[in-house]
Amino acid sequence: MVNMLIMGKPGAGKGTLASKLLEHYRLAHISTGNIYREEIAKGSAIGQEAQKYISQGELVPDDMTNGIVYDILKNHPMPHGFMLDGYPRTKAQAIALDEMLHTLSIKLDVVINMDVDDELLMIRMADRRVCPKCGATYNVTTKPPKTAGVCDVCGTLLIQRADDSEESVKNRLRIYNRATRPLLGYYEKTDLLMTVDGALPTLTVFYEIVSKLDGINRGHH
Ligand code: ADP
Ligand code: ZN
Repeated sequence: MVNMLIMGKPGAGKGTLASKLLEHYRLAHISTGNIYREEIAKGSAIGQEAQKYISQGELVPDDMTNGIVYDILKNHPMPHGFMLDGYPRTKAQAIALDEMLHTLSIKLDVVINMDVDDELLMIRMADRRVCPKCGATYNVTTKPPKTAGVCDVCGTLLIQRADDSEESVKNRLRIYNRATRPLLGYYEKTDLLMTVDGALPTLTVFYEIVSKLDGINRGHH
């Protein structure tokens, strides 16, 4: 059983690594971004409130996000542990999370930070393409379609996602640097921080994390 946080700049490639870890450790996935997307799709009160912020590229207010996470930690059975993904995103959220974990007697084992150079990030985002019809994703350098600019699956012309535009990526990086980066220092002090190199292949990073975590667990038992 392991309880982890996963952090990283927007576009750092957290998604692929997260899914490998979730499967390997059979963790409950608590992704605040996914939760908000589901609530918006349902048209719930929470979704409608959150959308005001999300559509502006801003963070949803801390009280709302903290409340959602507390509810899940308290009521959701997680026999193999959990992965918090996209939360905490501010120092106030990190402090609120500490209080929740304390109240619920839950121990956090590790904070994984995927570190990627801003420049590499900008290049990666600029290389991403998506099919507007079927949703298939490509990358012009690492995963190009068979015919340049055309979807392999359905033949539609590929586009760049609106939030992969240079302006949007820069804005998300600005928010990250202002609100989220300070969390790294916060977790460094608690000795929980494990920084991994996001420029390496996902599998390499995955095995590094697993061997470190298994080492830690062996030490404890
Ligand atoms: P990204 O699209 O940057 O990967 P997510 O999918 O995690 O981000 O979240 C989408 C949006 O949901 C964020 O831009 C933000 O508006 C909102 N959101 C998600 N998690 C949080 C959080 N912990 N605190 C505040 N807002 C959040
Ligand atoms: Zn397609």
